[in-house]
Amino acid sequence: MSYERREFPEWSWSESRRRMLVACPRRYYYHYYAAHNGWEYDAPPLARQAYRLKNLTNLHSAFGEALHRTAVDVVHQTHSNGVVPTARIVTDAIRNQLNEIYRGAHHDRQKWEKSPKRHPMLHEVYYGYGPSQTLIEAIKKKIEVCVPALLESRSLQEIRQPETQLTKVDSLDHFYLLDTKIYAVPDLLYRRSDGIWILVDWKTGDEDPADTNQLRVYALYARNRHSVLSHELICRLEYLYRNEFQELTFSADDLRNTERDIARSIAAMRSLLVDAVENRPQAIDAFPMRPGEITCQRCNFYELCRPELERAGFLQSQIS
Ligand code: SF4
Repeated sequence: MSYERREFPEWSWSESRRRMLVACPRRYYYHYYAAHNGWEYDAPPLARQAYRLKNLTNLHSAFGEALHRTAVDVVHQTHSNGVVPTARIVTDAIRNQLNEIYRGAHHDRQKWEKSPKRHPMLHEVYYGYGPSQTLIEAIKKKIEVCVPALLESRSLQEIRQPETQLTKVDSLDHFYLLDTKIYAVPDLLYRRSDGIWILVDWKTGDEDPADTNQLRVYALYARNRHSVLSHELICRLEYLYRNEFQELTFSADDLRNTERDIARSIAAMRSLLVDAVENRPQAIDAFPMRPGEITCQRCNFYELCRPELERAGFLQSQIS
């Protein structure tokens, strides 16, 4: 499909978008609106800057993304020939990706400025506070623990079975609700020989109560996109760092409630628009900053907020 320029971004909803609006409306504005078209060579400076910042990553996220990318290959290989790759091969694949990102963040800043999506930059390097040796050791430990947990996981053992039907592996997909495109990217969806569908989310971090909300949306996706009824579906969170999994099922009532929650969130988002057809946002002041020591410390857009935060008494020492 060819590139079609839009003055405003395409309207859509996702669980991560909902979370971002709740956490900080200003961050939501920068991420979903100000950064739009910031990839264009002659875009206004704010759009260019917001687009660059939007594409910052950090070492924990870079590890999670590297593991997810590698897991796609592991799943396909395991499903096609029943042989699980060795921990050495998988560890090397993840380490190579992280080393490349680490090297690029330190030495390819100009490339990142020109093309921030293709040349990742680490938040720790950009904001000049790391990555510390402690963080690097923590990531090494995560690799050591998560790789064997992935390879021994219940989901991968089920994928090995020749009767398992693999339907979806970590690819962006969507369904429609209330004329809104709802994005969903489950890590894995397959059907076992007993007819039960399994939807998997690999987790490399700590348990988060929001994980369940994400799975509810995935269960709706499975129903609307793949006609999987709720009693035929098990949603599984694979917590790799703890080497544990949690299985959840959702009733038809749960899914109806999830649809209502999404409808409320869509209404809240639409209330911030001047024009719902174009998805044209109100002015930036309609998206208040919601500063917090931890959220601002981790936020990609900190440099855009800094002057206002300092005027409001949030000194840099509280944030960095
Ligand atoms: S730096 Fe803080 S106030 Fe500004 S967008 Fe980020 S989280 Fe919100």
